[in-house]
Amino acid sequence: MNRAERRRCIRARRRLLTPHTPAWYVRLSGINSRQAELSSPYAGKRCCTICGDVPATLYRPEHAPDLPVYLCANCMVIQGRMYGVTFTRIAEPGVR
Ligand SMILES: [Zn+2]
Repeated sequence: MNRAERRRCIRARRRLLTPHTPAWYVRLSGINSRQAELSSPYAGKRCCTICGDVPATLYRPEHAPDLPVYLCANCMVIQGRMYGVTFTRIAEPGVR
């Protein structure tokens, strides 16, 4: 990775919102207000965005790459099989 690519990568990561933060809820509400409502009990928690289970891993949904979510293993499978949604596992925001 050259210097320009690395800078682009760091910038892209800074743009990522941390799941279950106020800014993240605002962004999710604009895309899927029902899901934002369903995930509201998980504010500030590092748990699955869909069911609240732990442990949960950070993923970037292909349809909304700037809105990462935490998913437990079950929800990850369900999202893929039932809704055809694909996710890419990503590093935690702020972790270098
Ligand atoms: Zn889950």
